[in-house]
Amino acid sequence: MNFDMLPPRSQLVEVLTRIYNQGLTTTSGGNLSILDDNGDLWITPSGIDKGALSPEDIVCVRADGTIVGRHKPSVEYPFHWMIYRARPDLRALVHAHPPALVSFSIVRKTPNTCITPQSRDICGLVGYAPYALPGSEALGEQIAATFSQGFNSVLLENHGVVTGGQNLTQAFQRFETLEFCAQINLLAAKLGNLQTLTDDQIRLFYHSDHHLPEFVPERHSSRELELRHDICRFVRRAYARRLMISTGGTVSVRVQDDTFLITPFGVDRYYLNPEDIVLVQDGKREAGKLPSRAVKLHQQIYRDHRDIDCIMTAQPPNATTYSIVSRKFDTRTIPESYIVLRDIPIAPYGLTYTDPRAISAMIRPDAPVILLQNDAVLATGKSLLQTFDRLEVAEFSAQALINSLHLGELVPIADEELRDLRRQFKLS
Ligand code: 13P
Ligand code: ZN
Repeated sequence: MNFDMLPPRSQLVEVLTRIYNQGLTTTSGGNLSILDDNGDLWITPSGIDKGALSPEDIVCVRADGTIVGRHKPSVEYPFHWMIYRARPDLRALVHAHPPALVSFSIVRKTPNTCITPQSRDICGLVGYAPYALPGSEALGEQIAATFSQGFNSVLLENHGVVTGGQNLTQAFQRFETLEFCAQINLLAAKLGNLQTLTDDQIRLFYHSDHHLPEFVPERHSSRELELRHDICRFVRRAYARRLMISTGGTVSVRVQDDTFLITPFGVDRYYLNPEDIVLVQDGKREAGKLPSRAVKLHQQIYRDHRDIDCIMTAQPPNATTYSIVSRKFDTRTIPESYIVLRDIPIAPYGLTYTDPRAISAMIRPDAPVILLQNDAVLATGKSLLQTFDRLEVAEFSAQALINSLHLGELVPIADEELRDLRRQFKLS
């Protein structure tokens, strides 16, 4: 779907519904707007159920101030106007009170976005605007002044967040990714030892070469066509389970030998379609499509491990936090965790782009999941379902570990019990 071709009312309803369904706003909180080429402001209505809006509920505030619509515009329309006036490059804004960002807003702090290269790339640095009465001109002045300093994401003291973009997709992606950063920062605060990236480390990410030579496929086998659908199904499922966000997560499946399918670069995971998936064959990419930045890592793993037919890299918040605090992720918690995950090693930051061979060498039958430092969780398996399960079990296990921190000390399964598990379940 070409989202930008939807009329502003439909775009606003799509995105607000998505925000509501992801648990990132309440029924009463938040507002979104788009400024169109005529200078008209399309904005969500005030106080109408944010979980059940339809395009007719959207209000248009014309450039001359006339209000068109069946409801009153959001009480915050003064700050929307003032931000657009201060930053003519912005054409869409998202405002809400998502829980992790509100935690920061009430202690006068901003989350560190240099936790993964993607989060820094998408959110940039975060500004902070002092408190003022909701709906007031004073609030608008404070927020617009902070946006004027060049920030695209601004935390509102004792209130929430506003993100801006050149279109609604960009504003939404900044909003969703920033809440993800805030969640990781909160989880890392519980575990301790947060490791952030330097500018030089972040630069490595931009040097990743995914522009493989192109080829034009002669035909698409039935198996390949089915796998394209299966990948989309699992990506949607991962998104719904919060194992991925719109801007992160890669899935690939081997079609045969050195041929595999992989998710594309820069496409919102929520709207992924079978035709977006990229076929890679003998080191070449399907003409006209750009694969994920991690394509060379996936290629290396398929070449080195003939028994692996599926790879997923994703950022489920709890498991990803272990990659950012550089702490051992102990899987000896419950039989399911140990059986499904075994040992989880951590690969130093940057190897995905500089030395995929080294990461591939860390994958073993007793280490099918690895943490990529300050980046993601990488799961491998025989099938999409097995790999997805490993990702899910990794997230559940990490969540249980982090939640248990304030309950007491972890009592791992004993060595002899692990021996019994390995024997009974025929683990290597
Ligand atoms: P509206 O429903 O008027 O947009 O208000 C929600 C809000 O978040 C106010 O800050
Ligand atoms: Zn608000």
